[in-house]
Amino acid sequence: MADVKKNRIGLEISPYRGGKTTLCAGCGHNAISERIIDAFFEMGIHPKDVLKLSGIGCSSKTPAYFLSEAHGFNSVHGRMPSVGTGALLANRKMLAIGISGDGDTGAIGIGQFVHLMRRNLPIIYIIEDNGCYGLTKGQFSPTADVGSTQKNGQPNDLPPIDTCMMAVQLGASFVARSFSGDKKQLLSILKAAIAHRGTAMIDVLSPCVTFNDHEGSTKSYAYVKEHDEPSGEVSFVPFFEDITVDYDPGTTTAVTMHDGSKLYLKKVAEDYNPTDKLSAMRLMHETHSRGEFATGVLYIEPDKDDFLTQLNLVDEPLAMLPVDRIKPGREVLDAVMEEHR
Ligand code: SF4
Repeated sequence: MADVKKNRIGLEISPYRGGKTTLCAGCGHNAISERIIDAFFEMGIHPKDVLKLSGIGCSSKTPAYFLSEAHGFNSVHGRMPSVGTGALLANRKMLAIGISGDGDTGAIGIGQFVHLMRRNLPIIYIIEDNGCYGLTKGQFSPTADVGSTQKNGQPNDLPPIDTCMMAVQLGASFVARSFSGDKKQLLSILKAAIAHRGTAMIDVLSPCVTFNDHEGSTKSYAYVKEHDEPSGEVSFVPFFEDITVDYDPGTTTAVTMHDGSKLYLKKVAEDYNPTDKLSAMRLMHETHSRGEFATGVLYIEPDKDDFLTQLNLVDEPLAMLPVDRIKPGREVLDAVMEEHR
């Protein structure tokens, strides 16, 4: 019998898989779930150490299709960041991944998104972005581009929200964009996001084959393939692998993650530097004005303090602290009261 492939912690791929998808055949979201399975398996993260969260929408159904042994919570519409914040405050040892959609994030959840980005909570936040509400028959979402049309021919007159641009502006420490059909790029970005400490915001263009994959749609497979401008070739080398990647100096930017892993961005534009906020904003503005999507790791600030560090939380998960540490007793309370007299 052929040897079954195991990862560095001795697990086969089966616990990284989930239930059978109930999404439409060919939906971009299914490809994203596949890459999540590959990334967690190849990084050797135990599924039981993972917290998977979501809001509402076709995208938010997908945590059921990966990491079957992880902890999961399907929250209410647009409110996943609050649930994730509470869960991570209770147990900072968990690795959190949240799946949202362009409607869940850009409309009802926009307020929560804004504060998630500025707080830098350690969570991988994926927007499965198809520019429409697939679950309720394809109405435009806030990321639909001006000029894109619904299946019935109705055009969109409102300007889109660019979630990547917002995230950079709001202080997110890892901002990336990819395409569900680009296996190699999306896998590298996901691995780098797993190694990052802070909010890793990834907007993944993910065509809705049922309501938004027709000619004229700027979120269709054909449009994205033609107008995808990679900001560079993204490679990621985890800290546990021998870091001996052969890159031509002068054409590659290497970013060291907090755990020592390396993110390599082979430049297309000679002056593009993913740690430079201004370059990131310029790239997004320029590609947007040409009707294109810049993809890759657009911005990264690997050393920024995450929300739990800013709060000065103890290392042990709060949910596991013994009673004598969370109820310090009458004397301590009296001393605190005394300080405020
Ligand atoms: Fe995917 Fe669209 Fe089908 Fe929803 S309606 S599962 S987004 S293809």
